[in-house]
Amino acid sequence: MPWLRNFLQLSASYARQSPPPPHKSAAAIFGRASPAPSLTQLLRHFSAGSQVTYPGLAPTKGDEKPRVVVLGTGWAGCRFIKDIDTKQYDIVCVSPRNHMVFTPLLASTCVGTLEFRSVAEPIGRIQPAISREPGSYFFLANCTGVDFQNHQIHCQTVTEGVKTIDPWKFQISYDKLVIASGAQASTFGIKGAKEHATFLREVSDAQEIRRKLLLNLMLSDVPGVTDEEKRRLLHCVVVGGGPTGVEFSGELSDFIRKDVHQRYAHVKDYIHVTLVEAHEILSSFDDRLRKYAIKQLTKSGVRLVRGIVKDVQPDKINLSDGTDIPYGVLVWSTGVGPSSFVNALEIPKAPGGRIGIDEWLRTPTVQDVYAIGDCSGFLESTGKPVLPALAQVAERQGKYLAKLLNHLSKAGGGRANAAKDLDFGEPFVYKHLGSMATIGRYKALVDLRQSKEGKGVSMAGFMSWFIWRSAYLSRVISWRNRFYVAINWLTTFIFGRDISRI
Ligand SMILES: Cc1cc2nc3c(=O)[nH]c(=O)nc-3n(C[C@H](O)[C@H](O)[C@H](O)COP(=O)(O)OP(=O)(O)OC[C@H]3O[C@@H](n4cnc5c(N)ncnc54)[C@H](O)[C@@H]3O)c2cc1C
Repeated sequence: MPWLRNFLQLSASYARQSPPPPHKSAAAIFGRASPAPSLTQLLRHFSAGSQVTYPGLAPTKGDEKPRVVVLGTGWAGCRFIKDIDTKQYDIVCVSPRNHMVFTPLLASTCVGTLEFRSVAEPIGRIQPAISREPGSYFFLANCTGVDFQNHQIHCQTVTEGVKTIDPWKFQISYDKLVIASGAQASTFGIKGAKEHATFLREVSDAQEIRRKLLLNLMLSDVPGVTDEEKRRLLHCVVVGGGPTGVEFSGELSDFIRKDVHQRYAHVKDYIHVTLVEAHEILSSFDDRLRKYAIKQLTKSGVRLVRGIVKDVQPDKINLSDGTDIPYGVLVWSTGVGPSSFVNALEIPKAPGGRIGIDEWLRTPTVQDVYAIGDCSGFLESTGKPVLPALAQVAERQGKYLAKLLNHLSKAGGGRANAAKDLDFGEPFVYKHLGSMATIGRYKALVDLRQSKEGKGVSMAGFMSWFIWRSAYLSRVISWRNRFYVAINWLTTFIFGRDISRI
């Protein structure tokens, strides 16, 4: 507990009444016998046959802990990293972001109901060993390829437009590899979608949406802007009627009703939300809940349009029936598909192009490689269906796999190629706990049944909204963020949303 540590340090320094002598080294002050080796000392150049070599982490030696390399800091990777026994393994995590995103609450950050920091959990807080243990690291990089034969991954650093630093390539040897690199937004090849729409997947996407929304609100108030242009700038179009699209539309309509009407009164009659869906909205919920959601969304002013998007242009979308829908903000949420990294991996795939896994989450054709979360799916040969792309699937796979690898290490199978003949124990079994979605105006849908046809609790309304909020508040990873989320909700309730464009 950081607060307890801070408190004890503060008390100790008061008790001493004097600072440590200036000649003492940092290691002596902090009680460390010798400083931990730096990363550059640990990085060794090593060769992989006749291939080009890069600096990196060489295979582990007998006196070192086995190394488990994790790709990704999403629901699956973070749950795995949290539960893996760091006394038995060194962890090296590679990901283009140094935090986990609490995705169920991401839509709320786009309109200022929650602050961005409240939904981002730094990896060092999820597993402190990653920043403390001498052989454990987090690398801000993308994995660009895997050499399954040599138990090695290839990576490239992420610089995100910092022009002074060129991307840096390196490689890491693994004893165990956990691929948890997620999926990417699908656009079904629709022309212009990638270029002009925003995909709500990362905190940076939510920031972009909020900035665009507030910019358009400001611009539409400027003298000389025509009524038609005002209407376009303030038209928020959401493509995709799944839970994410519906939740985002609900958040937007709450923002419009409560905040825009009060604080942007000049343009309040011009701002609208349209939700475009090719089939049924919320198709994973039963008819009764869907009808309720449609009624509530319509009451909140969300226009529901049944249509197939054919083409996306910078300021309008074209539907296949010939309708044009002008927009100022376009958010795309039509599901996910395999990423280019997963597509390029030369291992058997599950239906839908995900990495094929068996019942123990292994990729059966190569040793010591596991895949969890949205990037993986059961191989057809297992006879099991590909599981839905959900946080609850990803999290439980991460938890199961950490337990499995802890068990293998205790049984002497922690090193590369050492687990071939071991008993892997019980396979992974998924039990669906139900689905929830908010629809705005303090209303939500809660369906706790295993399937649409199954028996059990399914309800909608204010009570469901209360359950939704309580459930997600309790699932937020750290107490710090739980506190932030609760305070953000309270602040929004009392003072309204923050509308400053920072
Ligand atoms: C807005 C939104 C709301 C959602 N709401 C819900 C909900 O209410 N309930 C629910 O169950 N599910 C929800 N989901 C779905 C849920 O978030 C996903 O199913 C879940 O995030 C999958 O976890 P994952 O770890 O497999 O992938 P992700 O969480 O997507 O994480 C993938 C990680 O891999 C990293 N990565 C990508 N490529 C590479 C690479 N080449 N090398 C290294 N790292 C890489 C990424 O940066 C990321 O850190 C929601 C999703 C979104 C976007």
